[in-house]
Amino acid sequence: MGNEREIIGQRNDPDLPRYAGLATFALLPRLEDAGRADIAVLGIPFDSGTSFRPGARFGPSHIREHSRQLHPYHQLHDAYPFRDLQVVDAGDVGVGPYDVPRAVDVIEARARALVEDGVRIVALGGDHTVALPLIRAAAAAHGPLAVLHFDAHLDTWDVLHGATIWHGSPFRRAAEEGLMDLEHCQHVGIRGGVYDPSEFDDDRRAGFAIVRSHEFIERSIADIVQQIRDRLGDRPVYVSIDIDVLDPAFAPATGTPEVAGISTSQLFAVLRGLRGLPIVGCDVVEVAPAYDHAGITGLAAAHTAWELLTLMGLGPR
Ligand code: MN
Ligand code: MN
Repeated sequence: MGNEREIIGQRNDPDLPRYAGLATFALLPRLEDAGRADIAVLGIPFDSGTSFRPGARFGPSHIREHSRQLHPYHQLHDAYPFRDLQVVDAGDVGVGPYDVPRAVDVIEARARALVEDGVRIVALGGDHTVALPLIRAAAAAHGPLAVLHFDAHLDTWDVLHGATIWHGSPFRRAAEEGLMDLEHCQHVGIRGGVYDPSEFDDDRRAGFAIVRSHEFIERSIADIVQQIRDRLGDRPVYVSIDIDVLDPAFAPATGTPEVAGISTSQLFAVLRGLRGLPIVGCDVVEVAPAYDHAGITGLAAAHTAWELLTLMGLGPR
């Protein structure tokens, strides 16, 4: 697509080192400069839905800063994700911190405008609340989605402190709204944080099968990948990655850390096994930079987003 039009890749100024200049994601052009996009990285600096440690509103800028070392060639996929498609940084959604339902509407409107232009979104959160408006926008274009959700937590809970929309409920709301194909959704990395086993009954009703974190020491990656692919089927896929799916050793800077998580290498091995799937949108959420050390979490999130956009470029459109 778009071969007749100018393709714009990463910034390539021999006098300006990678660590200098303004940080767009992966030093990619801004949407307003490129004028068009196949894939857009979209920051969503919003964390008013968080239940524990706040700070994910600063996630997008932190992830951008730690994306400067992303290079044009992906050696394991033998792919140039920024060459074959127009990938841009669409900046941040202009969203305030006080009114959660209003914020969700603002995020949905921005996402819908991009999706209606044929753009696939790689969103940088923000807390996990932002997945609901992103899934609404993707489902409006593609119908009910097979949601692949990496997280320590189920995020299919109902009401907390009187709120129906918060960072622990996006997939319950999405299921209720008919945005997900309830036969084809999958959690990966679940552990910790459960009051009562009935929460798993609710979770099944919301359409999810589960691969728990501990299964990664008992099963092969190939086996887990096959289970995921079988579950997702051939539906359009939405991938949502809560950075807390990673062990706090690999991603300490997050709002609700849980020990005994998977490693960055295990996450990437699963993602690379998903090549060819029709991914219509994705997000990387819950990066709260105030708790980071030496950019560990920012780097993990930036590279996770790069893995996702590379997969999007390699899959059917
Ligand atoms: Mn989580
Ligand atoms: Mn989450």
